[in-house]
Formats: sequence, structure tokens, C-alpha cells
Amino acid sequence: MSSQWQSLADMADSVQTGRVKAADLVAQALKTIEQKKEFNAVISLTAERAGLRAQEIDQRIKDGEKIGPLAGIPFIAKDNFLTYGGETTAASNILKGFNAPYQATAINKLEAAGAIVVAKANLDAFAHGGSTENSDFMVTKNPHDDSRVPGGSSGGSAAAVVLDMVPFALGTDTGGSIRQPASFSGAVGLKPTYGLVSRSGVVAMASSTDVIGPLARTVADAALVLDVMAGKDPLDATSIDSNTAGYTINKPASKKISGKIGVVKEYMDSIVDDGVKRHIEQVIHTLEQNGAHIEAVSLPSLPLALACYYIICPAEVSSNLSRYDGQRYGYTQPNAQNIEESYIWSRSEGFGKEAKRRIMLGTYVLSSGYYDAYYKKAQQLRTKIIREFEMSFQNVDFLLGPVTPTTAFKIGQKAADPLEMYLQDTMTVAINLAGAPAMSVPAGKSNGLPVGLQLIAPMRADRELLLMAHDIEELLLP
Ligand code: GLN
Repeated sequence: MSSQWQSLADMADSVQTGRVKAADLVAQALKTIEQKKEFNAVISLTAERAGLRAQEIDQRIKDGEKIGPLAGIPFIAKDNFLTYGGETTAASNILKGFNAPYQATAINKLEAAGAIVVAKANLDAFAHGGSTENSDFMVTKNPHDDSRVPGGSSGGSAAAVVLDMVPFALGTDTGGSIRQPASFSGAVGLKPTYGLVSRSGVVAMASSTDVIGPLARTVADAALVLDVMAGKDPLDATSIDSNTAGYTINKPASKKISGKIGVVKEYMDSIVDDGVKRHIEQVIHTLEQNGAHIEAVSLPSLPLALACYYIICPAEVSSNLSRYDGQRYGYTQPNAQNIEESYIWSRSEGFGKEAKRRIMLGTYVLSSGYYDAYYKKAQQLRTKIIREFEMSFQNVDFLLGPVTPTTAFKIGQKAADPLEMYLQDTMTVAINLAGAPAMSVPAGKSNGLPVGLQLIAPMRADRELLLMAHDIEELLLP
């Protein structure tokens, strides 16, 4: 991807050595956001605070201070990250006007490394969706074809990176929301191991599968961002320690691919678009010709993963959304006469259709009489899926397949049919249920639209995943 930005490491070095000013990088990002605003990638700017932070960083550098590995680098956070300097809405009317009293740990860590949030990206409200069409505010357009969706729910973040507004953006991935928009829009998208990045200060969707990760132009940039964000956080009991070797990539990519890679049969079989299928097969062939040991691998429960996810995820969503009661955050219905009315009217008016659908599905599968039939069964299936991943990684180092059954679809094409929309997640949700790390690596185009290659690694093998993706990226460069 040609870009106005250099690698994150090079830019941070230029800022640290005084050759480039943080204030100029921030101005450049804000200018590009303004020039490309018709794509609707951004909900709001944090321009004033960003400007002050840039000035402060430039001053500290002048005073001889060492800033950090992301000195002066502007980025965009999905609007479900709590940030200072403006509202955090999760693209939902119920959070309109909400100013976060504290920031997400991930944002604090990036700021401590010198990075600067310049804007908040659009998403499907509360991250429920795969196209940004569930945003209560606007639909983001695909950078390659503005009649198509950018993917979702981190669609604004993916589009912002591909539109070159910023060198990287943050997303969240509960069932595919980093990898799928990365694939649809042509960015690198990394979903780390569950727990590797603290979820503190990120609007919860389904707490047992939510993860935070970067969308970037290159694998090395994504690795550096992960390196800064990763690690145990006392504010998130599910967080885990980073690999002591860290995640940054300091070696040049090798065009020789080493390792055993299993091609997931169930994913190859569920590709809908022939162009995508031919394309992925070609990529696999290229990997094989360049040293990869490829074999077919079957995880027989994968076809059931979508049903499993759409029970467990709404169950957790229904619980997590109960805190939006019209009293504590954002929107309160002004005409309610008593507390009961206030709860009902605030929630009825504040939530969009998809949030309501998930609350109803979630409370249904958790209710007495249905709990055993749906929720408990789904949890049992989840354990089976986890075991199948573990077993397959006894024989191969990585698993591989497509990210999505098709390339980016047209705006409006699936919006009226929730099941059609859910089917987009066929190849991503099982990995969230298992907790494993996975990436979407740009693998060229089919009929003019980006195709992503999905690479999956064992739990906590994020470093190995990134190194492998780094080599594959180099090999597939146009
Ligand atoms: N598209 C999936 C869903 O709608 C995944 C969402 C996500 O990862 N946030 O649930």
C-alpha cells in the first residue's frame, strides 16, 4: 500500500531525533481525515487534546527527554474505547453525550509510549455487526468502492488506515470484528490471544471473547502496537503476561516460508465466492512453492461454531447492556415520570434494532427452561471446539484459510436480513470461542476487491504468528 506514512519505528525515530515534529504528524492526520470525510470513517475528532499532547511531546524532546517507541504517532481508536478529549459513544444513541471519566488501559499504554489519539472511528453500535450498517449514526464506505461496506464492526478503523488517515488504528474483535474489516478493506488486522491486551475501559460486548488489537498497513507496525499494549493489567482479571521476548519484529522478512501449515477444510468448503476460492488456493500454492509444508486439516465441529457463538455472544451482550439504564451514562428519556418509565423509555429509544435483537436472544437462551437446551449446550460445544483447535496444533504450527466467504458486499445488500449478516462470520467466530490469536493478512484482490488470508496460531503464540505473517506478507507483496 503506498502511503504518506513511514513505518511506525522510523516515524518515532524521526520525531525523537527532532527531524519531524509530532505537531506536524497530528496536523497531517487531521488534514487527511478532513479530505476524506465523505467515507464516514470517523465519528468525532479529539483534535484539541491531540494538539496539546503533540506540543508537549515536542517540548519534552527539545528538553532532551526520551519519549518511547511510538513518539508522536497519531492514531484513531474505535469509538468503543474510553478516551479523554471527546465523547465515547460506541456508535449508539444511548451513549451520546457520554464523556469517559477514565481511559482504556490500551489507550493509556499507547499514550505512555508517545502515541496520540486524533479521532474516534465508526463501528456497528456496541460492535454488533459486520458492516458498520448497525451504527446509529452513519455507514462507513469501503475505500476501494464507495458503494460497498468496509466490513465491521471495526469498519471505521479499517477504512481509516486504508484511506491513509493515520498509520494505525485500534479495533475490537469479539467474533471477527478486526479480521473481517481488515480483509474487506485491505489492511493488516491482528486479533491477539484472549487476555493479552487489557479490556479495561473498552465498552464490553461479550466479555469471554472480546479482544483488542491493531489495524495497520504492515505486520511489523501491528507487532509494534501489540508490543506496547500487551501485558497483565490489575484492572482486568482476565489479562495475561506478555511473552518475555516481546512482539516487535526486528528481522527482515524472509521469502522462504518455514513451518507446517494446516489448511482448514471446513473454511475452504464454506467459501461462497469462486474468485475468493481460486485466489486463496493460488496463495496456498505460492506458500508451498516457497517452502511451507502444507496439509489439509479438519476440525469437524467448525460448522456448528456460528450457532454456538450466536447463543453465547447474545447471552453475554444481554448482561453487559443492562448497565445502560438511562441513569448512569449518556441518554435519559426526558419525559419519564418515574424510574420505571425512565428505564423503559431510555432503553427503548436509546438502543438500536440490533442491540435489542441481541438482548432478546440473550435473555431467551439464559431463561429457565431454555438455559439447558441452548446456553449449556453451546458451552459444551465451545469446549469441543477448543479441544479441536488444541488437537490440530499438535500436528501443525499454524492453521490457514480465508477470513470471509466473499469480498466486501454492497451497502444495503444484507442489512435487512440479520441471518445473512451473521453468516459473514462463519470463518472468524470459532477462533474467538477458542481464544486463539489470528490475523488477516492482505493477499491481493479478486475482481478489484481485497482478499484477506487468515492465519491462526496456538494460544499465546502471538509472536510466532506475527513472524510468520511478516514472511507471508513479503512473499505476497504485489
Ligand atoms: N460480526 C460479529 C457479530 O456481529 C462479530 C462482532 C465483533 O467481533 N465485535 O457479532
